[in-house]
Amino acid sequence: MSETRERARRGAREFSCADCVGRPCRSNDVAKFPSYCLTAHVDPQRLQESLEKYDDKDMGHMARVCASVESDFYCRLNRVAETIEFIKRMQYREVGIATCVGLMPEARLFSGLLQASGISHYTVGCKIGAMDKTTIGIPENQKLNGGDGHESMCNPVMQAMVLNDRKTDFNILIGLCVGHDSLFIQHSRAPVSVMIVKDRVLGHNPVAALYNVGGMYSSFKEIGK
Ligand code: SF4
Repeated sequence: MSETRERARRGAREFSCADCVGRPCRSNDVAKFPSYCLTAHVDPQRLQESLEKYDDKDMGHMARVCASVESDFYCRLNRVAETIEFIKRMQYREVGIATCVGLMPEARLFSGLLQASGISHYTVGCKIGAMDKTTIGIPENQKLNGGDGHESMCNPVMQAMVLNDRKTDFNILIGLCVGHDSLFIQHSRAPVSVMIVKDRVLGHNPVAALYNVGGMYSSFKEIGK
């Protein structure tokens, strides 16, 4: 067992990349690697295995197209525009949108932009099938309506199945809850990109919680000090 893993086993925190301030791996500045550096201790065989993944025609192409968008538009395109540019360069035949029904207006706006860009797409909302939450064992008292009748469950597995059946080339998530997004990603055959993560408290901008971690109204005020 490595020294750092042994420390973690004993309850001490294991340092990793989030603890690294200088990030010298960006320029492979070996002299500045911290003692716990993941690059300094990388398994050469596993590293080689990772590089061989890019020999796959599709994966290598995606990585190079992604790099071309970054290179041509870094800090000049917002995420929505960047996503559209990526789709165009990848020449995807059809794009799937898996959306929360609560963010349907946002999905509709994005759909309009795809339409105007000549990109074929198809949207499926999270309540597809309209099955009651109790169908999968969610108790009545955990419904948002307090158990007052039917409340449809989110069905991210079905969302993925609909898009799989259409053979979409690329799926985009709009506002799926944490966990539902995981289930969708787990079941999607096409590569997935996240456009909006749902955060009803922070305008779907969860990074605000991190930027304000020690702030007056922060949920993490005490632990952020
Ligand atoms: S790989 Fe090493 S240098 Fe790079 S961020 Fe992680 S700890 Fe820092």
